[in-house]
Amino acid sequence: MTVMVPSMTPALARPASIPSDLTTPGLQALDSALRQLHHAAEHLGLDDGLRTMLATPRRSLTVSVPLRRENGQMDVVQGFRVQHNISRGPAKGGIRFHPATDIHEVTALAMWMTWKCALVGIPYGGAKGGVAVDPTALTSRELERLTRRYVNEILPLIGPEKDIPAPDVGTDEQTMAWIMDTYSVNTGYSVPGVVTGKPMTLGGSLGRAGATSRGVQIAALAALGRSPEGVTVAVQGFGKVGALAAQYLSDAGCVVVAVSDASGAVHAPGGLDVAALRVHAEESGGVLGYPHADAMAHDDLLELDVDMLVPAALENVITAANAPRVRARLVVEGANGPTTPEADEILADAGTTVVPDILANAGGVIVSYLEWVQNMQAYSWSAGEVELKLRDLMEGAYGEVRSLAGERGLSLRQAAHVIGVDRVAEAHRVRGLYP
Ligand code: NAD
Repeated sequence: MTVMVPSMTPALARPASIPSDLTTPGLQALDSALRQLHHAAEHLGLDDGLRTMLATPRRSLTVSVPLRRENGQMDVVQGFRVQHNISRGPAKGGIRFHPATDIHEVTALAMWMTWKCALVGIPYGGAKGGVAVDPTALTSRELERLTRRYVNEILPLIGPEKDIPAPDVGTDEQTMAWIMDTYSVNTGYSVPGVVTGKPMTLGGSLGRAGATSRGVQIAALAALGRSPEGVTVAVQGFGKVGALAAQYLSDAGCVVVAVSDASGAVHAPGGLDVAALRVHAEESGGVLGYPHADAMAHDDLLELDVDMLVPAALENVITAANAPRVRARLVVEGANGPTTPEADEILADAGTTVVPDILANAGGVIVSYLEWVQNMQAYSWSAGEVELKLRDLMEGAYGEVRSLAGERGLSLRQAAHVIGVDRVAEAHRVRGLYP
C-alpha cells in the first residue's frame, strides 16, 4: 500500500532555517545530515511530504539544567534530547556531554541514528541527547548531580519502550548507572532496559564496552580487501571508540603509527605499542607525553601518509580545506559526521574509499540492542554469542552496502543512506498517516 503524503514544503537540500554561513559545528553537522538525506531521497524518488517528515525530528526537547557546584555556586547549563524518528521502534541514541553541543548537533546525530538502526536492521528509531558542559571541568559529585537533574528534565521522553539512551562523547558506564538509578527511583522498581552501555552489575552486556570499536575493525578489514598485516593506520581520538579501535586493528596485524586525543597527537613511524599507550593515557589523562613516540600537531595526523585513517573523535574534521591533503586510501569513520559533504566529494574524486559512520560505527548500537534484548528477557548471553551476532549484523550490512554501491554506482555513504532512508520511508508508507 502506498500512502501519498501531501506536499507541505518543497524539499530543499538546505532549509531556510539553516544559515548559509554555517556558523557553528552543530549547524555544519545538521547541514551535512540534511544534504545526505536529500541525496538519498532524490535517488529513491521520495515525495516532498515524506522528505519533510524525514528531515524533521518527531520530538525535540531543550531543558535548563541547574547545577550546584562544590563551592555552593549554582550554574545553569542547557540540555537536549531529540527523537528524530520512531516509525520502526523505540528511539535509541547516546548522550553527549561536550561544551560545544547544541540542538542542531543533537538533531543531526539523532537523524544519523535513525538511518544507522534501519541500515543494520535493528528495530529502533533514532535519538540523541546532549548537555552543553565540559565534563572534565566537573568533579565526580557535580557530574552525578548534573546527570541526575538532566535525566529528571527529560524523564517524560525516555523509557525502555520509548527511548533508550547510551554513552557517547564525554559519558560512560557510570553515567548510564546514574541514569538507570534516577529513572528506576522515579518508577519505583529497577528498570535496567532504560539505558544501554551500563556496568555489568546492573545488566550491562558482555562485549558492549568494545562493541563500537569491534565494529570499526570488522568494517575496516572488510573494506581493506587484503591481509591487514603491515597496513599502516592513524587514529584520531583515543576515547572509548578510538583507543579500542586502535587496539583491535593492531591485534589484527595493522601497524598503528599515530593517534591523537584532546591532549595532542603522537607518532611512531615504526608502530605504536597500543596497549602500552592505553595504559599511559589512562594514567596521565592523555596520549601526549608517551615516551616511545614523537609529538605531532593535531591536524597533521589527518594528513599522514598511511593506508588507513580512522577519525574517532568529533564531527567536521575532514573538510574541503584539508581533504586534498588526506593521503590515506581508506577512511573508516569511527566518529559520527567527521567528513563534510564537500570533503566527501574530494575524497571520492581522489579514489579514496570512505566507510561511512552509519555503517562503520554501528557496532555500538548493535550491541546496545543486544543488551536491551537481554534486559527485556532478564537473560544474558556469553561474550561469544554477542560477538557472533555483532559480526553477523555488521558483515551483513557491509555486504548490502557494498553491493548496492556497486550496482548503482554510488559511494558507500550514498548507498548506506539509500538503504537506511528507504527502510524508514517504507515503514512510514506501510503504517500510513494518523489520523
Ligand atoms: P569519548 O569521549 O570516549 O572520546 C572522544 C575522544 O576524542 C577523546 O579521546 C578526546 O580526547 C578526543 N578528542 C576531542 N577533541 C579532539 C581533537 N580535536 N583531536 C583529537 N582528538 C580529540 O567519545 P567516544 O564515545 O569514543 O566517541 C567518539 C566518536 O564516536 C563520537 O563521534 C561519537 O558520536 C562516536 N560514536 C561513539 C559510540 C560509542 O559507543 N561510544 C558509538 C558510535 C559512535
